[in-house]
Amino acid sequence: MSQTPTHQNYINGAFIDAVEHLEVHNPANGALLSRVPESRAEDVERAIAAANDAKKAWAALPAVERASYLRKIATRIRDNVPALARMITEEQGKVSGLAEVEVNFTADYLDYMAEWARRIEGEVIESDRPGETILMLRKPLGVVAGILPWNFPFFLIARKMAPALVTGNTIVIKPSEETPNNCFAFARLVEEVGLPKGVFNVVSGAGASVGQALTGSSRVDMISFTGSVATGSRIMANAAGNLTKLNLELGGKAPAIVLGDADLDLAVKAIRASRIINTGQVCNCAERVYVERTVADEFVTRMGKAMAATTFGDPLAQPDVEMGPLINRAGLDKVGRMVKAAVGEGAELITGGAVADLGHGFHYQPTVLAGCRADMGIMRQEIFGPVLPIQVVDSLDEAIVLANDSDYGLTSSVYTRSLANAMRACREIDYGETYINRENFEAMQGYHAGVRKSGIGGADGKHGLYEYTHTQVVYLEA
Ligand code: NAD
Repeated sequence: MSQTPTHQNYINGAFIDAVEHLEVHNPANGALLSRVPESRAEDVERAIAAANDAKKAWAALPAVERASYLRKIATRIRDNVPALARMITEEQGKVSGLAEVEVNFTADYLDYMAEWARRIEGEVIESDRPGETILMLRKPLGVVAGILPWNFPFFLIARKMAPALVTGNTIVIKPSEETPNNCFAFARLVEEVGLPKGVFNVVSGAGASVGQALTGSSRVDMISFTGSVATGSRIMANAAGNLTKLNLELGGKAPAIVLGDADLDLAVKAIRASRIINTGQVCNCAERVYVERTVADEFVTRMGKAMAATTFGDPLAQPDVEMGPLINRAGLDKVGRMVKAAVGEGAELITGGAVADLGHGFHYQPTVLAGCRADMGIMRQEIFGPVLPIQVVDSLDEAIVLANDSDYGLTSSVYTRSLANAMRACREIDYGETYINRENFEAMQGYHAGVRKSGIGGADGKHGLYEYTHTQVVYLEA
């Protein structure tokens, strides 16, 4: 029988034993997968110190040399896709196909960010004084703390470390307690490519201890966090003492607006895809639908059938299923509570509506709720599960008002054949991202950023890259 692996923190280019450990389990069947460090304050301090010690030499390397390490890591990732994808499926529960997409996308993302090495640009500004040149330099911030959620755990390492490193920062990553194994696998690839020590560090453990220590440190120059609004808010409070720069990618409650002139086949297909991906546990998932009355009955019927046909189960035992389990018992209970409350408040259950008893794992039936209203919790709070609540509206105006009346402001979508309606929606919807006639999923060259409580700052593309820099203006009289 194979032994349960025990992971070590990766600090200053070395794997280091921890005193205490957390257990990691497979959400599909409860199997114990590993033990990982429950790091202490001194481990976090060591990692921050290593990142600080490494930052000067790393920033002094030409950006193309820094980028060459990212490309090497991308190659090592591509050499190991099946093993990495399996690890993600085991600890996070996502289906194998999506896990492979995540791994390949991560490699592509590293290559994409590496391409920016020769495009990091400052400015030359006209001066008021004769003989003076004003230069705006772009510089690294120093040490970045990257704090990760569990839903795309492998990709999110790259989303933080790639722009941080190519612009000359060093980083300390804290993976989620739920999904740390793939982060230690990433650290092993970093080790194999010979990245200078201290540039990339991993410390695992609880948010309340390791996360708090990282975000409260005066030796961290930027906190790049992806996770829930509640944790983002706590991090902001903790960072306030040092006024540490924040980049917060938080939750969403994406509205999908389906107008009377929409291609309903497309709308059903795309909204279903955006709801069941990763079992509904994605920040940009379609979380609520506003459908115009003229097509509402037909849309609800078709969506009910499409969701009911969704297959689910243990993704390792049944590789063809479309959905795996939810991440943990708390996630399952929350989805169950929200559906029960909505039905109690008058929502009509079209399909699903219960825990799926497979004898193992945290599975919830794909669910559609019709007749929802704006005052229901299910239309206002993030569900993070395979449940689609639908509200009927009489016009695009009403849909836009309801869509904007939200604490969240990350992604949104509109289904219409009218260019005028699409453009009006783009102008009036207050969201960081809007998808027209397609499923919700961002591109690495875009800019993933939310308004309201969905976050501060953003990720990806040129604008995401420059979040990891500060400017220095030089007034040069020479
Ligand atoms: P979470 O907020 O519970 O945890 C995220 C991370 O924060 C974990 O590593 C956790 O240990 C850490 N943490 C917890 N308390 C902390 C504290 N006090 N100080 C510092 N760190 C702390 O989120 P989750 O359940 O892992 O992820 C799901 C959430 O993430 C959802 O709300 C989802 O919408 C959001 N998300 C957003 C994006 C985006 O790009 N906007 C992407 C993925 C996920």
